[in-house]
Amino acid sequence: MSSVSPIQIPSRLPLLLTHEGVLLPGSTMRTSVDSARNLQLVRSRLLKGTSLQSTILGVIPNTPDPASDAQDLPPLHRIGTAALAVQVVGSNWPKPHYTLLITGLCRFQITQVVREKPYPVAEVEQLDRLEEFPNTCKTREELGELSEQFYKYAVQVIAIRPMRRITHVPGALADEDEDEDNDDIVMLEKKIRTSSMPEQAHKVCVKEIKRLKKMPQSMPEYALTRNYLELMVELPWNKSTTDRLDIRAARVLLDNDHYAMEKLKKRVLEYLAVRQLKNNLKGPILCFVGPPGVGKTSVGRSVAKTLGREFHRIALGGVCDQSDIRGHRRTYVGSMPGRIINGLKTVGVNNPVFLLDEVDKLGKSLQGDPAAALLEVLDPEQNHNFTDHYLNVAFDLSQVLFIATANTTASIPPALLDRMEIIQVPGYTQEEKIEIAHRHLIPKQLEQHGLTPQQIQIPQVTTLDIITRYTREAGVRSLDRKLGAICRAVAVKVAEGQHREAKLDRPDVAEGEGCKEHLLEDGKSDPVSDTTDLALPPEMPILIDFHALKDILGPPMYEMEVSERLSQPGVAIGLAWTPLGGEIMFVEASRMDGEGQLTLTGQLGNVMKESAHLAISWLRSNAKKYHLTNASGSFDLLENTDIHLHFPAGAVTKDGPSAGVTIATCLASLFSGRLVRSDVAMTGEITLRGLVLPVGGIKDKALAAHRAGLKRVIIPQRNEKDLEEIPANVRQDLSFITASCLDEVLNAAFDGGFTVKARPGLLNSKL
Ligand code: ADP
Repeated sequence: MSSVSPIQIPSRLPLLLTHEGVLLPGSTMRTSVDSARNLQLVRSRLLKGTSLQSTILGVIPNTPDPASDAQDLPPLHRIGTAALAVQVVGSNWPKPHYTLLITGLCRFQITQVVREKPYPVAEVEQLDRLEEFPNTCKTREELGELSEQFYKYAVQVIAIRPMRRITHVPGALADEDEDEDNDDIVMLEKKIRTSSMPEQAHKVCVKEIKRLKKMPQSMPEYALTRNYLELMVELPWNKSTTDRLDIRAARVLLDNDHYAMEKLKKRVLEYLAVRQLKNNLKGPILCFVGPPGVGKTSVGRSVAKTLGREFHRIALGGVCDQSDIRGHRRTYVGSMPGRIINGLKTVGVNNPVFLLDEVDKLGKSLQGDPAAALLEVLDPEQNHNFTDHYLNVAFDLSQVLFIATANTTASIPPALLDRMEIIQVPGYTQEEKIEIAHRHLIPKQLEQHGLTPQQIQIPQVTTLDIITRYTREAGVRSLDRKLGAICRAVAVKVAEGQHREAKLDRPDVAEGEGCKEHLLEDGKSDPVSDTTDLALPPEMPILIDFHALKDILGPPMYEMEVSERLSQPGVAIGLAWTPLGGEIMFVEASRMDGEGQLTLTGQLGNVMKESAHLAISWLRSNAKKYHLTNASGSFDLLENTDIHLHFPAGAVTKDGPSAGVTIATCLASLFSGRLVRSDVAMTGEITLRGLVLPVGGIKDKALAAHRAGLKRVIIPQRNEKDLEEIPANVRQDLSFITASCLDEVLNAAFDGGFTVKARPGLLNSKL
């Protein structure tokens, strides 16, 4: 230590104005950065680039003067302290804010301010001429080593700039922190020695712990290295659960946990059977695609359960930074491993089932493409060597079983889609939902709310009411939430003991129907105030009927409004497919005096606009055939006429060609003045010549029509084969009419057909 070469601070320093006291050489201080000037400094000197040269700042104490303009540089103290920024912590939300950890090096004097904006920079003269390291310290080995470390670090930091000399300060270092953590380090070292990590990882750990032992604890790198090593010893390099796979048991378990979804269950069993026979995981990744709440995650969980594996869900919705998957390099402040490595740490074994939820909602940004990173994770050829940036050594992912879920395949990046086997999980019919509610959802909710079937009864008609009047969804998630709300309300009643005297506050309901009034054994009503009776079990369960439902959930949200809305010409019901399942979609048209303009409103995309133009052109060219006229009786439908088409309702933008037949029917109704049948819905693409082309999503669309209580569904002829997929009870309730051209569609959509000559009285009807 005697041959220490003195060091100097840069001759120009960016100035950080603090109002949190004076920073003394050798002391450390946290200072919060929120003024525009200091924010700029932190951003451009500390957060940009990775070079260490910019981490020396000149810290000047400053008293904020409310009278002065924040734009102008306040009068500066001439003396300040050069400081090393050792840590930046911060966030940009709700507004940019950082906290700096700075360590004082030596004092300086400003000789000239060379720049004021965006943050001040000054020429400085170093004031502290620090003494050489005193010889006496040589004997104090421990202190010597610590200060040597600090010195080395400081030299590293400052070495790049033109410098003046300073020597380091053993006195300042004397306070730093001691060997209180030594025990932990010894433990850590032991864990590394005994860990079963692969050789390469082991080597890295040994090297890092050697470095760690030499580092002073005050150094920011100390904490980083230690965290790294702790993660390394914690990771399940070689720890796995033993698969217990019995296909028959798996079938029973899947059946017990899930009602319906036969296709999915069958495919999952096949997958598991092949795995059992082949005993490896190479092969496509299963991807369950379907609307929310149809049980995709829940099946993934069951797969883990049947195999006796740990389960971990990784939500990918909105992930747009590849380091979310692959981790940050350790040079970054606040760096951490990606979600895959984090997941492995959480489950503690190297062969869990990872559910990659919502792969269709992966984003992309300047921070790289997370889909590409995910590809590396999923590729069996590469993933035994997956290298997270933070770990910087390979981790073998080949034993992990990945299952993906998505709402739609349309937005899954093609390269990813290529690696996956898509299994469609369609929405449920009303009957299926009722069964799911009574077999699974209600028992689960009762248990969660501490209720028993002796306290609450939900009859099937009530469940149907919830399904049809309070929810409109393909899955069962809202239904589950509503059942939860009911259980909460009943839990309150039960807990208060009020159920015995109030029929959920419904004096209007007669005895015998609705909630039963519960009486005490002696036949008297239980006074609420009599708290001694609260613990008594109720004699009869609270029955949830429609009145109780209204009390708890409020008035129904979806009353059937179909026939109401179709009481005017110029309205037709289409069937749309969205990632959330099938939906019915009203198309409305009106006409007014104008110059032949077409206006389209509603959440719709370009393909839908084209369909509208096609439909109008077809109607114009067939106006004579159908006796369609504009308001003044002319067959030129757009003469002096503007048309407005509107697609009401629905937050999800709808696009696709399948609305063609609906738009044509709606306009035919508008120009003929005839009403479209109120129980009919339709789907199909059209051509300019009036042919009807096939479309997708027939099953989901049929379920939507069924949910809405419609009776007749017009589909393209070439979709006839898809009818097989539709559950028998839905097929029974709906009559499907196939059409290969628009004539057939119109015939089926209007009472009495459409090709017959329109009645003269209706010809010139104005709307
Ligand atoms: P998704 O992942 O498709 O959005 P979830 O798996 O989260 O849906 O399912 C939502 C809830 O509905 C869960 O509680 C699940 O157990 C239940 N559920 C869905 N489908 C079924 C089914 N067929 N049988 C039993 N429960 C189901």
